[in-house]
Amino acid sequence: MSSFTIPSTQRALIFDKFNGPLEVRQLPISEPEDDELLVKIEYSGICHSDLHAWHGDFDYACICPLIGGHEGAGSVVKMGAKVKDWNVGDRAGVKLINANCLNCEYCKTGHEPQCDRIQNYGFDRHGTFQEYITIRDVDAIKISSDMHLAKAAPVLCGGVTAYKALKEANVKAGQIVVITGAGGGLGSFGIQYANAMGMRVVAIDHSSKENHCKSLGAEWFVDGFETSDIADHIRKITNGGPHGVVSFAASKKPMEQALEYVRKRGTVVLVGLPKDSKILVDTTPLIFNAITIKGSIIGSRLDTDEAMEFVARGIVKVPLEFVKLEDIPSVYERMKDGKVNSRVVVDFSL
Ligand SMILES: [Zn+2]
Ligand SMILES: [Zn+2]
Repeated sequence: MSSFTIPSTQRALIFDKFNGPLEVRQLPISEPEDDELLVKIEYSGICHSDLHAWHGDFDYACICPLIGGHEGAGSVVKMGAKVKDWNVGDRAGVKLINANCLNCEYCKTGHEPQCDRIQNYGFDRHGTFQEYITIRDVDAIKISSDMHLAKAAPVLCGGVTAYKALKEANVKAGQIVVITGAGGGLGSFGIQYANAMGMRVVAIDHSSKENHCKSLGAEWFVDGFETSDIADHIRKITNGGPHGVVSFAASKKPMEQALEYVRKRGTVVLVGLPKDSKILVDTTPLIFNAITIKGSIIGSRLDTDEAMEFVARGIVKVPLEFVKLEDIPSVYERMKDGKVNSRVVVDFSL
């Protein structure tokens, strides 16, 4: 068992009010409770939701001051007295949803994100934009030794969100799935996971994303802005509509269009959160064609393990850009302008 020297303070990126300055400060390191690990974060992914949390878009669900971040990967450096299944030195992932009760109907059936007692790291509890973090032993994700830690980080939210939504779409190998917002962060994961799961992919996005989507494995690309009758076009190229749609685009129009072109008995999975969240649904075709509409948000611990395995085996690629903790404000600026193409990861050694 290796041992680590733990300093008394650590670097953390924190803001005191929504939209206020994002500052790197020296802050105390928490002691792990009996059932917790202390994880030294080596890499933390930067997710679009971190930007929204700082903006105050989820102020009803956030503490303030707040240390954001919910895609942390690192090593266990200390453990509480009752921890059994971990060792100091093990590689661990710190994801968004933790501290669920493990005993309600949802937890018992593997739907942990729907538990009423969850804590969201980086939202209602400090997250992974700090060098050290405590997490309950059963919540931390084991990361295998053949997995690069930096690649593991973005899987903990972005990767598993895309993977879970595809599972929810109930599209079988050889069948067709449409992915909207396909050129973005979730979409780029989604195209690859869909291929790995045997699905044929129609990617929808702005024409500038066509080459990117096709290089990731999309069989068809549809320009979501310039195509005159999207529903008609998609029904034609898919010979009756896709078996499933995964909607990552965070706007209403693509959601409503999906309900028009999805195949009879098909499933539309909504993931992207538009600001004004109400959409118009024509119930008559929905009923006659037996269409399913459902929501999906992140995944369970098991979904996370599965999503991680595809990356460890090299089947799903994670293009990375490394930045320093101090660079997060400038990354947020680029995110606002839609100028981030790869997964941006904070490297704490920089
Ligand atoms: Zn996220
Ligand atoms: Zn529960």
